[in-house]
Amino acid sequence: MMPLIQLTSVKGSYGTISDGERSGSISSNLGMAQSREQLTMDNTKDNNSMFKRPRGCYLSQAKAFGLVLLAVGAVVAAVLLTYHWTTCEDGGPLSQKSGGGKGLAKADKLYVRLPTNVKPLYYKVDLIPYVEEAKNFTIDGKVWIDIECLQATHKVTIHIKNITVVEESVKIYEVDEAELSPSVTEAVESVSPKKHEYDVPREFYNMTLPKSLEAGKVYRIYIQFRALLADSLGGFYRSSYKDMAANVTRYLGTTQFQATDARKAFPCFDEPQLKARFEISLARRVNMSSISNMNLNRTEPVEGMEGWLWDHYNISVPMSTYLVAFVVSDFENRVANRSLSKPEFRVWARKEAIEQAEYARDIGPRILTFYETYFDIEFPLPKQDMIALPDFGAGAMENWGLITYRETAMLYDPKVSSDLSKLRVATVIAHELAHMWYGNLVTMAWWSDLWLNEGFASYVEYIGVNHVHPDWKILEQFVADEMQYVFSLDALDSSHPIYIPVGHPEEISEIFDGISYAKGASIIRMMNHFLTEDTFRTGLASYLKKWKFNNTVQDDLWESLTEAAHHQTSLDPAITVKEIMDTWTLQKGFPVVHVERNYDANEPTATFTQTKFQLIKNETLTQGEYSTYKWWIPISYASINFNANFNRTKPSFWIKASDKAVTKPIDTNKQDWIIVNVQETGFYRVNYDLKNWGLLINQLRSNASVIHPINRGQLMDDALNLARASLLPYDLAFNVTQYLKNEEEYLPWESFFNAFHFISTMMSKSSSYGTFKKYMRDLVHKEYTRLGYEQNESDSLLQRLHRTNVVSWACKVDHKGCLESTTTLFSEWMNSSSPNTENPIPTNLKKVTYCTAIKMGGEKEWNFLWQRYLDGNVGSEKSTILTSLSCSRETWILNRYLTWSITENSGIRKQDTSIVLRSMAATSVGNYLTFNFVRDKWAKLKEFLGDGLSSLGPIVKSIAARLNTRFELNEMQQLRDRYQGELGAATRAVDQGIETATIQIQWMEENYPTIASWLEKAIQVGGESTTTGNSEL
Ligand SMILES: [Zn+2]
Repeated sequence: MMPLIQLTSVKGSYGTISDGERSGSISSNLGMAQSREQLTMDNTKDNNSMFKRPRGCYLSQAKAFGLVLLAVGAVVAAVLLTYHWTTCEDGGPLSQKSGGGKGLAKADKLYVRLPTNVKPLYYKVDLIPYVEEAKNFTIDGKVWIDIECLQATHKVTIHIKNITVVEESVKIYEVDEAELSPSVTEAVESVSPKKHEYDVPREFYNMTLPKSLEAGKVYRIYIQFRALLADSLGGFYRSSYKDMAANVTRYLGTTQFQATDARKAFPCFDEPQLKARFEISLARRVNMSSISNMNLNRTEPVEGMEGWLWDHYNISVPMSTYLVAFVVSDFENRVANRSLSKPEFRVWARKEAIEQAEYARDIGPRILTFYETYFDIEFPLPKQDMIALPDFGAGAMENWGLITYRETAMLYDPKVSSDLSKLRVATVIAHELAHMWYGNLVTMAWWSDLWLNEGFASYVEYIGVNHVHPDWKILEQFVADEMQYVFSLDALDSSHPIYIPVGHPEEISEIFDGISYAKGASIIRMMNHFLTEDTFRTGLASYLKKWKFNNTVQDDLWESLTEAAHHQTSLDPAITVKEIMDTWTLQKGFPVVHVERNYDANEPTATFTQTKFQLIKNETLTQGEYSTYKWWIPISYASINFNANFNRTKPSFWIKASDKAVTKPIDTNKQDWIIVNVQETGFYRVNYDLKNWGLLINQLRSNASVIHPINRGQLMDDALNLARASLLPYDLAFNVTQYLKNEEEYLPWESFFNAFHFISTMMSKSSSYGTFKKYMRDLVHKEYTRLGYEQNESDSLLQRLHRTNVVSWACKVDHKGCLESTTTLFSEWMNSSSPNTENPIPTNLKKVTYCTAIKMGGEKEWNFLWQRYLDGNVGSEKSTILTSLSCSRETWILNRYLTWSITENSGIRKQDTSIVLRSMAATSVGNYLTFNFVRDKWAKLKEFLGDGLSSLGPIVKSIAARLNTRFELNEMQQLRDRYQGELGAATRAVDQGIETATIQIQWMEENYPTIASWLEKAIQVGGESTTTGNSEL
């Protein structure tokens, strides 16, 4: 899945959680982490193996214990008895406390895993969805499920949520295993459950049978049910859109099952390791069409329902429930050029938007075909569909053979949308297609290993996009967009390890976060570089082949990579990939490597040590828990003498987790700099002795181009964040950034802007903000003048993105020329006779132009832009407008906008409510208004957003990102106290908001005076020219 929030757009604040307590040495730490993993595996992988080797029921053992109990009467035995009875009847242990570390899981959370006494083999699902108001959007459903009994049992437990079972219809009968086939026939002898129970908190439906199912036999369960196409964005739900030509609202039915919502569409064993084959049949009106994971087998009339047809789909490959999908709509489709991919590839959208699917139709099949070669495994399905939906909670979802997207993630109109939205479409498509292998073909055994899906898809998406657009240099952008972004998240105490035990659906939805995605991707990239490309790909291909149609835990991946690495001698035979990677996946956070050069020795050397990087000083943690955090760190470096082209990313040596310090000869001259972590391929920061920093600053000022652009970006990001963490004086970090006046490349600027965003946010309410703006105007002035406001057709993508960044910052800090250009163009647009079709603003500068015009303007400008939103037909444009409307500084306009965001039929879609609130919270005027609004309307917001969106968390984080006074911190704490117990999936966000605010208060106290006086001096030295706008603005 691709979350709604583009990771790249959320700087500096993201959800994190508290880790379990740790103590002792590194080895005992890892030992503990490993045992935690082991225990969790008992609940997942081991269950899996039980499926393969059915065992007898534990009942006999329980009886034996019963005898012991009679004889001894020991309490202990009674406990064991209970345990074994439960194991037999329910097939699973009683609680999930075996998870060990606290991690994400609240220790007292409900155990929600299914019993393991049966496993599903095959489902036939027949659905008649009434996608129409007249029938109240109801669904009539039938499901036949073939299950294999692994342990004799009287009770079958299956997942169900918001579904009404027609109890008298439920039957179970034995079928011949050999007959497993679509021919669903009624058996002569069937039994009906004697008891139906609904365990609502666990989302279970328990059927108690009059007689026991026998181990080793196959049974068929038949259930009729009724459900509702709710507008909840989860399960089988309804969506709608306005047919502008006919001026009517049209409805469609679509699905979103990940992580735990397949159970809302039909009763099923809704856990990822319970793979089965699915045969889907959908009824629809003749004027609609349907699609599902597989290709169509046949269509026939629905008996007794005139004007309705059944679409019967072929039986699927074995897959997890969360990947099942279907859509019933009146959408149009276009088939991709048949020469581009072996499977048939189609794109779908509403009729008025299908033209915007052309780009997806072009790159989709090309990326799919590329992956077949890259992974060395053919795509196993006969077809691939992609559909753009008007209402969609996430960004996109990788259902096998039927990928669903929100419109902004799949549709692109070159005349209207920016390059950034094209880039987004390309990366989301490449991400979802990568899941066809990572996630769909090989699936994590349980959600705790979610990062195996998401980390890989988030890394491979760059390789996929690079294949279709090599000129975009997207692999360079990885560093700023994924790694530097997630550093700020992972540096918090409330971060969590990549591998994290989760159970309850709320916990599962919480880990679709930056750690699983961006950190996961970053450590995979690190492996790619330290193992080398050849070993990496060989290892991955053998992993995929070994586990296809199956489930894995991370150790399975380490094993395949170790095998390839030892075979190709790219890793010391005494070391395994597991030993290295456990330090990156089982510990939260990441290291900073301290480099102390010895300038006096005859042979230049340097000493390397590591500590956990922390954003804020906390002696208790540093001396205690964190003192034991150690990683295996691959060290690569460059100097004038060695690796001067920065091409060698394979490590020269390692800092082992057990090393206290490593001293190595360094190939450089005493008077020359060294740079460690070439192309920033390792997931760590680097700090140097002050002399080396000085040498680097001199090099940047005299001729920056000898340093690789990625490493120039690294120096910006590391220097500013080391200063933020009190590991480097702020004035030195600012000195590093001063060379930027002469920098012309995208990446160093991008890294700087991202890191400086924090300082800008902190300063924005302070008395020195005017000085800050002057300093920034001066810094960007030269680039602003060089690049200009107009787009040049011959510019590369990076140049165009760079211009967007520079212009946005120039306007943000009230650069006079920028303010004039944007407001002039906006009024030109307002004066146009047909503003819906004619827009003079360059596509890449729409966001900054709209925002600036709204900021400077009043009601007239706001209403004009709002009307464009209502009339718009392009998703990305509408989303840009929604964000820009929050730039107003009129309190009443902002409050009206907030109210509209939770009002039905206001024009703002439910899926977009959080965009409004988050973007408003990110402005200085709107921040406090949003905070008030959220507190005031908490209940209404929760109800309005429903459970299809866990978007309250990101909203709270967006608010917290700007809080830096004790008063504000207090208010955030009050919010937590007041709603404790009903925060649900926002619990972690609120805790993290409190940590963020605390850190920011401390930061202000420690650094604000230094920064204010440095800026004051800098603008006096630098002077200022014609760049000043109205400083009152
Ligand atoms: Zn994904």
